[in-house]
Order: sequence, then C-alpha cells, then structure tokens
Amino acid sequence: MADTEEEEKFPFDINPMYEGERVRKAGMYVELGGQGKPGYELVLFEPDPERIKDGEVSLIGPDLEDMEEGGNYAYAMIYRVYGAQIEKDLEAVIERRNHEYQSYIQGYMHLNQRAEIWVRISKEAVKKGLKSLKQIGKATIMLFKAELPFIEKMEATYITDEEEVKRGLEEANRIYEARDVKTRGLHDEDVDEFYQCTLCQSFAPTNVCVVSPDRIALCGAMSWFDSRAAARIDPEGPNAPIPKGDCIDPIGGEYTGVNEAAVRLSSGEYDSIKLHSFLEKPHTSCGCFEVAGFYIPEVEGIGWVHRGSKVTDTPIGLPFSTIAGSVGGGKQVKGFLGIGIQYFYSPKFIQYDGGWRRVVWMASDLKARVAEAIPEEMKDKIATEKEVKTIEELREFLQRVDHPVVKGVIREVDGERVTEGWAVEAEAAPAEVEVRAAEGAPSEARVPLTSVPVVASGAGVNSPIKIILKDADISIGKIIVKRKEEREIKK
Ligand code: SF4
Repeated sequence: MADTEEEEKFPFDINPMYEGERVRKAGMYVELGGQGKPGYELVLFEPDPERIKDGEVSLIGPDLEDMEEGGNYAYAMIYRVYGAQIEKDLEAVIERRNHEYQSYIQGYMHLNQRAEIWVRISKEAVKKGLKSLKQIGKATIMLFKAELPFIEKMEATYITDEEEVKRGLEEANRIYEARDVKTRGLHDEDVDEFYQCTLCQSFAPTNVCVVSPDRIALCGAMSWFDSRAAARIDPEGPNAPIPKGDCIDPIGGEYTGVNEAAVRLSSGEYDSIKLHSFLEKPHTSCGCFEVAGFYIPEVEGIGWVHRGSKVTDTPIGLPFSTIAGSVGGGKQVKGFLGIGIQYFYSPKFIQYDGGWRRVVWMASDLKARVAEAIPEEMKDKIATEKEVKTIEELREFLQRVDHPVVKGVIREVDGERVTEGWAVEAEAAPAEVEVRAAEGAPSEARVPLTSVPVVASGAGVNSPIKIILKDADISIGKIIVKRKEEREIKK
C-alpha cells in the first residue's frame, strides 16, 4: 500500500502489517479516550450527497501540537458517508472498520469501539512529522474509500474538546442503543444463517467470532443485522455467513455449522462452541469484549465487570484489566468469557449454565446500566462492590438473600438442575472435622477441614463420607491402606 501518490504525503507509513502494533506508555506522545477520558466513534449515513464535503476533515479542540506530551485527552471521530448502495443498516459496519483501517497507520494504536475507544499516538510518529489529527483523518478517509468502494463520499469531524465530546457522547449512546434494540425481537431459531467476523484475527488468530440474533458480537459493535448487511455489500470481507446446519444442543446453542466454522477459523484449535454457555465449550474471546465474566468456584456463580467500569476491584481481587488479560487472545477459556453488553438482554444469556440465576456479582455501574435486563426476582440477589468486597462476604450475602446458587440452580428453560448448591455442604458439615490417618501417622497427615468446603452424606459402612477439598494444601507423610481382612499394605 505504500506507493500511491496520495499516501506519500503522509509522514507515516500505512500498511496492514501495523495491525496489532501496541504503543506502550513509555513510547506514547498522547493518549486519546481510554479509561481516563470520554471518547466515541460514529458513522452516520447522509442520504444527500451534496451535504458532504468529500475528503474534508475538521477538528474541534486542541490539535496534537497543542497537546502536552504524556497527556490524556477526550476524543471523538465522526464520519458522514454517502454512497448509492449505502443504507442506514451499514453505519455500524463501516464504523467497525475504523478500528481496522486506523490500525494500518504506523505509530497510531486504535483499540475498542463505540464509546470505549482508546487511542495512543507514539513519540516516534510525532518525531517523524505527524503534527495534526487531520493527517490521521485524511489517511483514514483514504483507506475507507480504497477498501470499501461503495463509499462515494466521506467527511470527518474529529473532536478533542472535552465538553464537546461529552455532549456528542449522549447522542452517540442514543444511536448505539437504537441499533441494539432492533435485534431484540429476532432469535437464533428464526434464521438459517449466523455470521462470522474475522476482523480481530490480526491480533487473535484463533478467535472464532460468531454473531447470531441472540448473541451480539462480543465487541458490541456488530449485531446479526449489521453482519448480514456487511456480508451482502462486501462478500469478500470479514463477515461471511455461517449456515447453521443441525442443532446439536438448543439450550447451549451448539450447531454443526458453527462447529465447522470453529475448526476452519481457528485453524483446528477448536472444534466446537456453544453460543450460550459460560463453562462448557464457551465462545472464544479476542481483546475487544465490552464485558468480562469470571467464574467464582467458591460460590458456583459468575461475576461480571465491564471495560470502563469505575469499580477497581472484584470479589476475586482483580480489576477488569487483569481479568481481560486472562480472557483475551482468541482463546476458549473455561471460567472466563467476553461478551457484548447487549447479550445481557438476550433471552438466551448463558442459559446453558442457568442464565441470570447463575449471576452472583456485578460491578455496580454495570448492574445499573443493564438494570432492565435483570429479571425482577434476581435484582436484589446480585451483589456489587457496595455490598461485598471478598469471597467470604459474597458467600454470606448470597446466603442472606437466598440466591439460587446456595441451594442449587435449576435452569428455567428446561427445569434441569445445573448445580447442587453449597448450603447443603455447610449445613451437613460438622463444626470441626478432622480426617485422621491411621494410628501413629504423623500429624501433618491430619487435615483440618474447618476452612474448606465439605460435603458429607450419611454415616456407617454403606454410607461412606464423601469429602470434597477445594484449594487445600495437604501434605501426607504416610498412607496406610487396610484391606477388610486387616492385612496392612504400607506405602
Ligand atoms: S470482536 Fe468479533 S465481531 Fe467484533 S470486530 Fe472483532 S472479530 Fe469482529
């Protein structure tokens, strides 16, 4: 891509090989958006071509030269597009490509989407002559028009004035919400095809992104409608249809067509995916998910925290950024899952694992944001950082509110019991239990169990005690196994 006349005007290289390039803090000239400042990107379809000044980029607020090195500034990128083949449905599709094309620019790191955008510009790029965000805007428009020829006219407005970004963000959020609501009436069983997205494979090569009506993309930027529009207008692009094939598991959301796509897209790394499962064959997660879910084995429940959350600590003691590090990379990670915020509104939301009945903790700002999606009977049973800080406090909270995980979760969709519950354990376990090794065994072979979960059932010869140890650190000096005839076998 380096040899068109127009491109040579830019003081930076433009090439797909820069996709996935990271600008680290030490090498950063400025940061735009991200955790510290508001930001968003938006594409708007303009039906009247006369109202677009093709190729023009305007900037509201300070430009790079006016910014302090090392600073963090608000950032909005608004593009208005016209094309005879473009319709409103394509706005989200074009918008998602901003991430891809801007990632081609050397020294410019673009991450995330919508109101979560996070951009860093490197010192190196500034040293080489990058002076203005308008240069970035011009390069971006050039890339859009080269890669998506159905865009006939395009102009950009970039904003770095914080108050102006905040004002525009409210309107942008209304637009995102309107797009998302559109998909809520359509379900997986109503369609014959889902859609893949391979955009994030540049940095997560085994990522298998499947977008279905009941499961918006984990980046939140592509609904089933958006993906369909993208596949129609750009059949060679990243959003090809996936024929559903046969349904293997209607509750988990497992289909032969999706499994075939999993093999193909992950180069054989994964062979099956359940679209609506958290723990078994979960969807892969690249780095773009809006929300990270984490399993909490001590309570057999699931917690959720979103990108941009003000909550710094979860009950497992990790912030979003650390959890995100465990989830991302295009892996199928049991115990962690990345999702798009709209998935909370899906009637199939992790239904394989018990759906909302399995949710035990949410960051308070996330819980408030998706309040409408939470079933009435669960609203007061889901803890936030305001009620609990640790796993122990979470256990107490869940028992106090009689959360379904305490006595065992029954799946609403089919009445199947998916967990046994742990109240039984607590009630049945004696106050102090000690497992004794045979007479004369050293004291380290005795394991005090007061601090670990114990399941005990019955007593006597025909009802042996069943003991489950979790996170126990046990050292055993000697094990003596006695046969019934009392012959000793020493190990
Ligand atoms: S997260 Fe998935 S749907 Fe979103 S851009 Fe990446 S690959 Fe595409």
